[in-house]
Amino acid sequence: MAKADLHTHSTASDGTDAPGDLARLARDRGLSCFALTDHDTTAGLEEAAAAAKKLKVTFVPGIELSASPDLDAAGSGNVVRVADEDLQGPADLNRRGNLHLLGYHIRQDAPGLTRIARQQQRAREERNPAIIEKLQSLGVSIDYDEVLEAAGGENGTDLQGVSVGRPHIAQVLMTKGYVKSIHEAFLKYLGVGGAAYTRRDRLSAMAAIEAIHAAGGVAVLAHPVQMALDHAGVEHAVARLTTLGLDGLETRHSDHEPADVHRLTALADRYDLIPTGGSDYHGSRKAIQLGDVVCPDQTLERLARAAEAYR
Ligand code: AMP
Ligand code: ZN
Ligand code: FE
Ligand code: FE
Repeated sequence: MAKADLHTHSTASDGTDAPGDLARLARDRGLSCFALTDHDTTAGLEEAAAAAKKLKVTFVPGIELSASPDLDAAGSGNVVRVADEDLQGPADLNRRGNLHLLGYHIRQDAPGLTRIARQQQRAREERNPAIIEKLQSLGVSIDYDEVLEAAGGENGTDLQGVSVGRPHIAQVLMTKGYVKSIHEAFLKYLGVGGAAYTRRDRLSAMAAIEAIHAAGGVAVLAHPVQMALDHAGVEHAVARLTTLGLDGLETRHSDHEPADVHRLTALADRYDLIPTGGSDYHGSRKAIQLGDVVCPDQTLERLARAAEAYR
């Protein structure tokens, strides 16, 4: 029986372990396999793959793409678009859901994926200073260098390819005592409806799935509970995403209660989606430990088989 954790983050996005250290940790925690799924970047994959090979841990190269939760707008084919939540009135401010798509077995040098990663990073780089300005105007003492430092850019470290974003800003707000938790930072300042919320262009789910497939990868909907929809809403989204080519559903995740796992497994069955699982380990940035959520051999086999079809 394999012990595979298929959802992890490294310092290439908002995790706190270097990609190579994740491989060592995977071995120490008795995992036979892990996937690195950094937000909108493949920058950590090479290092993780090399370390995993040395340690004889199976490695699945992955990515986690943030996409627009507005699936009805996703049909237009635009690669990057403004999320409707930001264009509509206050009535929509309670829409805090996110839509993340995991890609497994991706070729990290695939041009389409590289282009999207760069676009997503540029969208953040344009937005981040605007958030900082809003925070400053609210009387918060913060500057962008502190955020870059939180992202691992201290001592002139190269942040090339690293996804610097709100989790790092949240980290600074917490370190400086403005909030008690990352969650509070999003609620009060950074999330939709927060005082310093600033929209950025979003990738359409269709473009995300297409880019994953074009990179030879398998597309999986991450942590469906984070879409903040009721059961019918989740099913509607899954149905829509399936018509866009979705291959799998993350049924096991550290945010999922047993009842969620049960319901999502049935949903995956109904839509013929591969059920996957992972901890969403972020190092010391979240309480969850590597290997807290794992999935069986069968999942790995199904993912590998599905990836063959996109090669
Ligand atoms: P960004 O990509 O810079 O816009 O930041 C989005 C990331 O922040 C997401 O991928 C999540 O990992 C994280 N995030 C979003 N909302 C929350 C929240 N309420 N609490 C903690 N982390 C969050
Ligand atoms: Zn993250
Ligand atoms: Fe996620
Ligand atoms: Fe994640």
